[in-house]
Amino acid sequence: MTTPGFGAISSAVARAMSEVRSQHCKPPTYRPAETQRGSIRCPKCGGLVTYTASAIDGRTSGHCSSSGCIKWTD
Ligand SMILES: [Zn+2]
Repeated sequence: MTTPGFGAISSAVARAMSEVRSQHCKPPTYRPAETQRGSIRCPKCGGLVTYTASAIDGRTSGHCSSSGCIKWTD
């Protein structure tokens, strides 16, 4: 089963996630030296995505300021 909206949301999540990773999770450690918090523009709605990138394990999480828009936890 596929829902039309789901693919759009998950690819927006993938774009937001890879933007956070490319900023903060670079080789060779793939994690920031200190846990990072910040915001980027939402690739789906143009709103504000607030994210964190963990210094402990390099995991990222984030959510859009618009309700019902993208969010993820690595
Ligand atoms: Zn959004």
